[in-house]
Amino acid sequence: MTAAVVIGLEIHVQLATRSKLFCKCPTALTTTPNSQLCPICAGHPGTLPRLNTEAIRLGIRAALALEARVAPVSSWDRKHYFYPDLPKGYQITQHHTPLACGGQIPVWSAHGLVHVPLTEMHLEEDAGKSAHGVDPEDRLTGIDLNRCGVPLLEIVTAPTLHSAKDASAAAQNLHTLLCALGITTGHMQAGQMRMDANVSCPTGVTPAAPRVEIKNLNSFRFLEAAIDAECRRQAQVQQAGGAIHAETRGYDPRQNVTFAMRDKESLPDYRYLPEPDLPALVVTPEMLSRARDTLPPLPHQVGQHYQRTWNLPFAQARSISVAPDLEHYLAAALPQTNAPQLLVNLALNEVARLANGRPWNRLPLGPAHLVALVELIHVGRLSHTSAKALLPCLIEGGEEPELLAAERGLLQQLDAQTLDKLVAQVLATEAAAVARYHLGKLEVFGFLVGQVMKLSGGRAEPRTVQAALCQRLTRRT
Ligand code: ADP
Ligand code: MG
Ligand code: ZN
Repeated sequence: MTAAVVIGLEIHVQLATRSKLFCKCPTALTTTPNSQLCPICAGHPGTLPRLNTEAIRLGIRAALALEARVAPVSSWDRKHYFYPDLPKGYQITQHHTPLACGGQIPVWSAHGLVHVPLTEMHLEEDAGKSAHGVDPEDRLTGIDLNRCGVPLLEIVTAPTLHSAKDASAAAQNLHTLLCALGITTGHMQAGQMRMDANVSCPTGVTPAAPRVEIKNLNSFRFLEAAIDAECRRQAQVQQAGGAIHAETRGYDPRQNVTFAMRDKESLPDYRYLPEPDLPALVVTPEMLSRARDTLPPLPHQVGQHYQRTWNLPFAQARSISVAPDLEHYLAAALPQTNAPQLLVNLALNEVARLANGRPWNRLPLGPAHLVALVELIHVGRLSHTSAKALLPCLIEGGEEPELLAAERGLLQQLDAQTLDKLVAQVLATEAAAVARYHLGKLEVFGFLVGQVMKLSGGRAEPRTVQAALCQRLTRRT
C-alpha cells in the first residue's frame, strides 16, 4: 500500500535588481549571448566580487514577507563543481549560514488559507547557460555567460506537501507574492523562477523512502506534471518488485516522463569553503526595520480584505489582490458606490477588456466616473446594455457618464402612469406624513418627493414628481 507522496520544493527566484550580484553588469533580458559580461562575472582569476546591496534588500524583503527569521550574520560560501557554463569553477552561495530560516508560504485558495512551512532561504549567484546543438550538425554546444552572477534567492520548503497540485499551488502563490512585492519580475519563460521537486513515496514497509529530486522545472504546469509522472514511475517500479533509489532526474515534457540524470553514488562533493573575498553578510536591526516599514499588505491579506469587506467571490478577490493598480482604483471607487458587486463586475469584465492591458492608474475613466456610471445602472436610469455601449467612449475621455447618456438619449424616463402609481403608493404607506401635510406642515412635501424618487429608483424627474404629488394631494382635499 502506498501512503501519501511526500514532496519538498527548492525554488530559485531571480531578484529584480538592475545589476548582477557581485559586479555592475546588467541583468536585463537580451538575446545576444555573452553581451553582459565583465572580468568579475566571467570568472577571470584575480578579480574581486563587490556585493550588490539591492539584492540584499530584496532578499530581506522576501524573508520578512514569508515570516522567516533573518540571520543577523550569514555566510558566503563557495560551492565547487565543474561545468562549462561555470567559468570560476565555483558558485558563491550561502551554505553554512543562510540569510533566513523558517517562515512559510501563505497559500490562499477558495477553501481558505494554509501555510507551507519553509526550512530556509539563501542568496546565491546564477551560473551561465549551455545551448546544445547550436550548429546544423547538432554537435556543438554554445555557452552563454550572461546569466553568470545574476542574483538568485533559493527558497526551500519543508517536505510537507502531499500532492502535485498542492506543490504547484505553493509555487504559484510564492510567485504571486514575490511579484506583487517587486522582489522578482517573475518571468517564467526567461527562467526567473526555477523549481526542483523532491519526491518520495513512503510505504508501510519503508517509511523513510529514498528521495528523488527532479531538477529545473520552469513552469507550474511542468512542476505538477513532473511530480505526477515521478509518482507513477515509483509506483510502477515498486509494483514490479523493484526498489527506488535516491537520484537526480530530469523531466521530459514531450514524453511526460522523468529520466535519470545521476544517482546518489555519483552525487558531487561540492567542497564548500568560506568565500575569502567577501566579509560575512551582516543584517542590522536598522536594515530590518526599514524593510519592515516598506512592506505593504500581502496579496492574500488584500484579497481576504476584499472578500470580507465587499463580499466578493474568491476569484474576483484574488484578481484584485495580485494587481496593485487595480486594487488602488477599486479602493477609491468602492466606498462611493451603492452597488459594489456591480462595480467590480463592470471593472473586471468590461473595463479591463477595453483597457487592454493599460494600467488602471492611467485610464482616463477615473474611479469617480465609474461610480457615477454604476449608480445610473443601479437606480435603473440606464440599462446595462446602454452602459456597455457608453464605456468605449467613457474609457477614453473625461466625460460625465450622465451627460453622455443624456446626449445619446439613453437615460430611461418614467411614463406618467407608472409615476402616478408610485405617488399613490407613497401616499398610502406614508399616511402619517400626509396627515401632517394637510395640517399645514408643508416641509413634509420634500420628504414625500424624496420617497417617490427613491421608489422610482431614480428614474423619475424631480420636477415631474413634484407636479404629480401636488396633483394627488390637492385631489384629496
Ligand atoms: P539536501 O541538503 O540534501 O538538499 P535538504 O534536507 O535540505 O537536503 O532537503 C532538500 C529538499 O528536499 C527540501 O525541499 C526538502 O523539503 C526535501 N526533502 C527532504 N526530505 C524529503 C523526503 N523524505 N521526501 C521528499 N522531499 C524531501
Ligand atoms: Mg538540494
Ligand atoms: Zn560582470
